[in-house]
Amino acid sequence: MPLYIVPTPIGNLSDITFRAIDILKNSDIIFAEDTRTSKKLLNHYSINTKIESFHKYNEHFKLNSILKKLESKDKISVISDAGTPGISDPGFLLVRESLASGYEVFCLPGPTALIPAIIQSGFPTDRFVFEGFLPLKKGRKKRLEELANESRTIIIYESPYRVLKSLQQFIIYFDPNRKVSIVRELTKKFETQFRGTISQAIEFYKKNKPKGEFVICISSSKED
Ligand code: SAM
Repeated sequence: MPLYIVPTPIGNLSDITFRAIDILKNSDIIFAEDTRTSKKLLNHYSINTKIESFHKYNEHFKLNSILKKLESKDKISVISDAGTPGISDPGFLLVRESLASGYEVFCLPGPTALIPAIIQSGFPTDRFVFEGFLPLKKGRKKRLEELANESRTIIIYESPYRVLKSLQQFIIYFDPNRKVSIVRELTKKFETQFRGTISQAIEFYKKNKPKGEFVICISSSKED
């Protein structure tokens, strides 16, 4: 049996495909980042499949037992707390090792925060670079220096506690008039979007304390 990577909603519980529900219902086991978080979703869709944890602290430890289950032809699904496993969430290691061991891997199309964030930014989507969470300390300066000249649209995941600090750091490296689109709480009740220059975003978030989940899109350095 192949390994199934199954995206789950990033807020709105209705954002799950019929196929995702079907695969989760018909799996022998679901590996989830946080079993308590995922049980809410699984209960909502009456999915009674056995569930076990698979997160960044045990992914190395669990790898071999999951590969053995694939060898025994168990149907295995992997989900994360929200969105697509492997995108700033555990998944990559298991996918790489499953392929290396000769198993097929199918990733279902579905929710992830980066795609709605870039689409509704209005910035070019033909070429973009997804940075996930920027390094917090080591390597951060170098990364920002590289991004200063990036001609593709940049997508960054950021915690609410660091949105303002990061923007204040961006203007050290980037043109303060470079445009940003910052989405908050995608698909949720208090979804909002800020569009403007980096300087304007700083003024906005000084007055409006960032709360919730954020994706920052930065326009090309070449935009005029
Ligand atoms: N696997 C997820 C995906 O496919 O997008 C990402 C998981 S990562 C641990 C969590 C980060 O994703 C958040 O800090 C935020 O940057 C972004 N994110 C997830 N859900 C979001 C939402 N509803 N609105 C805005 N950003 C979101």
